[in-house]
Amino acid sequence: MSQVLNTGISNVRNVSRYVFAEGAISELPVLLQERRKVGNGAVAFLIDEFFQSKADFLLDRAIKNSDQVIFVSTDYEPTTDGIDELARQLRVVDGANYSAVVGMGGGITLDTTKAISNLLTNPGDAADYQGWDLVKIPGVFKIGIPTLSGTGAEATRTCVMTNKATGLKLGMNSDYTVFDQLIMDPNLTATVDRNQYFYSGMDAWIHCMESLSGTYRNSIGDAYSVQAINLCRQVFSEGDMMMNKNREKLMVASYLGGCAIATSYVGVVHPFSAGLSVVLGLHHCLANCIAMTAMEPFYPEGYAEYSTFLENNDIKIPRDVCSHLNDAGHRALYESTMVHEKPLTNALGEKFRKTLTPDRVREIFEAM
Ligand code: ZN
Repeated sequence: MSQVLNTGISNVRNVSRYVFAEGAISELPVLLQERRKVGNGAVAFLIDEFFQSKADFLLDRAIKNSDQVIFVSTDYEPTTDGIDELARQLRVVDGANYSAVVGMGGGITLDTTKAISNLLTNPGDAADYQGWDLVKIPGVFKIGIPTLSGTGAEATRTCVMTNKATGLKLGMNSDYTVFDQLIMDPNLTATVDRNQYFYSGMDAWIHCMESLSGTYRNSIGDAYSVQAINLCRQVFSEGDMMMNKNREKLMVASYLGGCAIATSYVGVVHPFSAGLSVVLGLHHCLANCIAMTAMEPFYPEGYAEYSTFLENNDIKIPRDVCSHLNDAGHRALYESTMVHEKPLTNALGEKFRKTLTPDRVREIFEAM
């Protein structure tokens, strides 16, 4: 029988509307035309810097003179300071009166967009809203346009941010963080770097594999996860992973995986991946893929399938990433892994510390 571990969500909210089609981005000007009747008529665009040279071409008809366009750097994952700085820039122009905020990019840009939308209508700083249900006023109408598939940021009710002062990596978990509108256009993922495409796609698969292997389950989360895994299996085993049909499937898997996250828990991979991100500064999706290389003891079937995905798509994962670390480095890895008690309990039970001793955790990191 399934057990319940409190997710802090009793009444699930999904994205209000979405358009899904090749070329769907052409719908944006029409959608914005309606929105511009509310507020001051101006739109704030947050666009992944990758699209800097292509934005004119892709968003030409959508962007008006009165709009603000900001290119979001993806060198680092979002920090509360970085979000505050962007919010300051936008508030100076017209505070809470924007008609809409549009985010176009991968998980970093989409999470940034969600946070900014909330901060434009709520007072204070990003750090004030790290937690559960702390956002009191609905944000500015937010439109998400994912250009990378896997993390599910387009579907979730959070926006992950690191607070450098406190070391806290936590988002604004709130119904108000959910996008009001998505435009899902598989054409937009055609130019993604192959490795990046693989790492990100694996995030959807890993999340769902972990939650289906856990103890704390719920039927709707399971259903989303099963279908997301099926789609990932097709994408990474049948033909070129980046052919049109597969990019379309991965975009759906990402969305469903994001819906699954709302009501489920991850397992062992994400805590180890978080350790790599905190100590070595590795991006989430790459860190997951590295962590997966040492997960055979915990997920033998998942590990075997993952190995076939790597082989089929000729993807090489960086190895020996922890070999240069001293004792202090390994202590930091241990602590930033073990802090994720809920997923570790989900995977290994309440006595997970008995399995994951400091020596064992070091061995696992050294095997990556
Ligand atoms: Zn993830």
